Amino acid sequence: MRRPIIAGNWKMNKTSEEAILLSNGIKRDLFDIQNIEIVLCPPFTSLSDVRDVILDTNIILGAQNMHWQAEGAFTGEIAPGMLKHIGCKYVIIGHSERRIYFGETNETVEKKVRAALKENLSPILCVGEKLKERENGKTFDVVSEHVEKGLLGVGEKEILDVVIAYEPVWAIGTGKNATPDQAQEVHKFIRGILSDKYGKEISDNVRIQYGGSVNPDNIADLIKEKDIDGALVGGASIKEGSFVDLVKRASDIVKEK
Ligand code: PEP
Repeated sequence: MRRPIIAGNWKMNKTSEEAILLSNGIKRDLFDIQNIEIVLCPPFTSLSDVRDVILDTNIILGAQNMHWQAEGAFTGEIAPGMLKHIGCKYVIIGHSERRIYFGETNETVEKKVRAALKENLSPILCVGEKLKERENGKTFDVVSEHVEKGLLGVGEKEILDVVIAYEPVWAIGTGKNATPDQAQEVHKFIRGILSDKYGKEISDNVRIQYGGSVNPDNIADLIKEKDIDGALVGGASIKEGSFVDLVKRASDIVKEK
């Protein structure tokens, strides 16, 4: 059975002090959750502070981005090995905000996915269509391109270390989540792509999260769906109460799933 994963993407929020407060609260309130993998992805500047707070707990550290090169003259960038060294297990790759505002392409995303795996980091590969693309009936074309190109260099042995996050761009930060049916339809489609590439047995074990305006009120219906294995959460992850409620509600559903 796939262990669901809920990751909080704090984006460009929280000073180190605030990050320590938030992660301490989450640690205190979620210490006994075992059936969900809980990941916190603070900004680079708070990674080591949050790492110290969650050391030896059920909470795992992740980063929001990285460069694909191991080192060098890339001012302002962070290398995979630096993330590993600081204690990250996960790294978000190809978030739509990176694609839209920072010019990331399927090609750079693929390089990052490979570089992460080489460093024993698990990439959370974000894929998803924009509103216009959905309206024009292009959802499956866009998603398959993101998945196929993003995983071009990923072999059978590595795919189980990858998490895929289906994040329709129109649902991110808008308060308008995909319905469980809409999300399940795309998750099933993604699992089909994985099955064609890696075989059914492997694809049945790859985790696919949903992301886009997930909150404590909609998580239960989303995570009930057969192919939805957790969530990538933005806005609701930077308030202690909402993230804690969301994870607890998901945990209750997973017990019944
Ligand atoms: C995200 O940025 O990955 C995200 C899903 O944001 P939000 O939950 O705020 O829609």
